[in-house]
Amino acid sequence: MLIAGQLLLADQGNCRIAPGMVRIADDSVVEVIVGDCSPRADIGGPDCLIAPGFIDTHLHLPQFDAIGAQGLSLLDWLELVIFPAETRWEIPQFAAEMTGRAIRQCLRHGTTGFCAYATVHQAATEQALRVAQDAQIRGVIGQVLMDREAPAALCRSASQLIAETAELLDRFPPGGRIAAAVTPRFAISCSEELLNQAGQLADQRGAMVQTHLAENVAECERVRELFGGRSYVELYREAGLLGPRTLLGHGIHLDDTDRRQLAASQARIAHCPIANTFLHSGTMNRHLLRGAGVGITLGSDIGAGYELSMIRVARGMIEAAVSLGDPPPTAWQAWYAITAGNADQLGWSDAGRLVEGAVADLLVIRPDIPWTDGPVDPLSRLLFSWDDRWLTEVFLRGRRVY
Ligand SMILES: [Zn+2]
Repeated sequence: MLIAGQLLLADQGNCRIAPGMVRIADDSVVEVIVGDCSPRADIGGPDCLIAPGFIDTHLHLPQFDAIGAQGLSLLDWLELVIFPAETRWEIPQFAAEMTGRAIRQCLRHGTTGFCAYATVHQAATEQALRVAQDAQIRGVIGQVLMDREAPAALCRSASQLIAETAELLDRFPPGGRIAAAVTPRFAISCSEELLNQAGQLADQRGAMVQTHLAENVAECERVRELFGGRSYVELYREAGLLGPRTLLGHGIHLDDTDRRQLAASQARIAHCPIANTFLHSGTMNRHLLRGAGVGITLGSDIGAGYELSMIRVARGMIEAAVSLGDPPPTAWQAWYAITAGNADQLGWSDAGRLVEGAVADLLVIRPDIPWTDGPVDPLSRLLFSWDDRWLTEVFLRGRRVY
């Protein structure tokens, strides 16, 4: 199949567009032809943008029905809204149905890969993994680890949680199109024993680690109370949870020492600007983190985040930088961040780019505005004028799914 249009091409931290065609066969991109946007293509045309699928590096599948609970800060929001929502995943069939729905919503917004949290329930997490595998979306889903500071119905012993996560890693091993992940919710809800065992398990299995870090001031204070005044970053480091396969949601309330330790560990921060605004958590300082050498990805953080569209999350990243008075990322860098940038940070070498050999997870976007030759840079024009209805086709592994 030949898809023609303006190709979104990744170029050293930026994106650019060039007319051309992408040939897909089976599940892969087998040829990228730059310069020729011929009418013999099966799909597309000169006014279409052909982009790699977007990647969302932080979302919570059981929270899709809890989006929009306004007026609460993190710890109250968890207690009053999120823990009740996650309790509903006691019923594995409900988790399966909800995951299917969440994946359809992601695809409809162009997200073809994600890093997701499930709940503490092993059976529900396994259902979510199976549904995601059947849907052929790419990513990781982790059973959430909590052994304290949450309702009893959502706590398990450390040994049970580690054994269950190990079973999920057997069934959905790291490196697969869909893989399990080691996912302690955050330090507050985990005993030191659980954090340590989680770190060991991730290391033994080469698994990805997802957790939250320094999202909210009250959260950071509670962590200091619970762990004898130790720093949040140091605590994770001592538990063996920081490394190149670690993705830390938020990372807002950090100091220079934290940033240096994070950079040295090669752990990444998943920046979730929409969620941070929604819960009044603060604003992540992208400029300082990048300056210290910390890798940053972008995520929606559904359901604290309310934007499924990674385009709008990327705009949130720009707005967050502006609000701090920092040099904001450009539109080209924003497009890069939600495609090749996120893929690179996750080590997904065959995703996020229109290149030969990439998996054919891609999007056909048909803007109904003149965008290729106006007074504004085309990628900036599309980013800031974005209309979800422009996204007309989504391909997963070369198969049209939307
Ligand atoms: Zn989160």
